[in-house]
Amino acid sequence: MTERFHGSFTQQEPIPDEGIKAANAVMQSGRLHRYNTSGDEVAEAALLEQEFAASVGARYCLAVASGGYAMTTALRACGVGHGDKVLTNAFTLAPVPGAIAAVGGVPVFVGVTEDLVIDLADLAAKLDQAKVLLLSHMRGHICDMERLMAICDAAGVTVIEDCAHTMGAAWNDVPSGRWGRFGCYSTQTYKHINSGEGGLLICDGAEDMARAIMLSGSYMLFEKHRAAPPVETFAQIKYETPNISGRMDNLRAAILRPQLRDLATQAARWNARYRVLEHGLVNTPGLRLIPRPAKEQFVASSFQFLLLDWDAPAVADVLARCAARGVELKWFGGAEPTGFTSRYDSWRYAPSDPMPASDRVLAGVIDMRLPLTFSEDDCALIARIIRAEVGAVYQMSGTQSAAPG
Ligand SMILES: *Cc1c(COP(=O)(O)O)cnc(C)c1O
Repeated sequence: MTERFHGSFTQQEPIPDEGIKAANAVMQSGRLHRYNTSGDEVAEAALLEQEFAASVGARYCLAVASGGYAMTTALRACGVGHGDKVLTNAFTLAPVPGAIAAVGGVPVFVGVTEDLVIDLADLAAKLDQAKVLLLSHMRGHICDMERLMAICDAAGVTVIEDCAHTMGAAWNDVPSGRWGRFGCYSTQTYKHINSGEGGLLICDGAEDMARAIMLSGSYMLFEKHRAAPPVETFAQIKYETPNISGRMDNLRAAILRPQLRDLATQAARWNARYRVLEHGLVNTPGLRLIPRPAKEQFVASSFQFLLLDWDAPAVADVLARCAARGVELKWFGGAEPTGFTSRYDSWRYAPSDPMPASDRVLAGVIDMRLPLTFSEDDCALIARIIRAEVGAVYQMSGTQSAAPG
């Protein structure tokens, strides 16, 4: 009998009861706007900022409307403006080059390695083109951060981290988002804590955070923040910084606070599922697993592998066969951007030079969501299906001669 998987790759867990209760209380009060507080009341948004800052050891935190908004705010606070080039990953998702374009910047794409991290040699070669790197820890793969920071520091390039896939993760015990000048997180439904839409921005620079808070639309109410620099920091900045509204509301913050308290537990659950998949796919001929270095403390909310140097019809065949058995895989090598998946050369507003080494990797990247609604048994079944279908196509297609193994 052919096994089939029946779960949904897009089904998240419910919001914890505690979050639903807190959200109800906010709705009953009617005070959804973060600056609409009564007496000594501290807004849920301000509490979330304080708790998130503490959880990563940052001095300051700002809750905003989306991860994309966190990135544009960081770019603006770093002074990126019209026509400025910004280095970023070729392997990332559309909100990242989109954030650069939103501030009038021009993305300069840096290649990806077979380990699915930024290519540090390519980065070094392009450092003289820009003053800022918007580094995307795409799909939770974290590069050698000591080396990256050494390279960027030596060239005077500011690093902003896109931690949409690394909330709760770390490199060598330093949380993701704490290496660069700013860390940007998303609380959109498919990320590590879920408020539908939302974002968080952290930094240690007092003026950086004062600018970010003014940009987010604080009017002159910045004294109500609890993870913000002292009011004196705003003395000049409050006159000079435009309001580009993108605040988070109390309802979302109320939903997020209990989830943040659970993040470490959830991360362990994700990683247990990841290890089951990895174990089930090890030594599958033609399939390359992504190595996870000991220093990388990742949170595996998704799973990737490579069908490196396979021809496109064979990859498409694997995807179709897995789909027929209920396993939804995404492919970064597809000719057209589909779903959430697109590639640097499909963002035509941001022209790029060809990157053959990265194209070879992207052509083989297979990507899968790993929602916590899957059990470990589900993951073992998914691995069996992928292993069988990759094996079948690999044997049939003669891909063996093309693939070095
Ligand atoms: C989701 C995501 C973001 C931020 O997205 P928003 O939907 O704006 O919160 C940023 N970078 C990557 C890689 C993402 O996947």
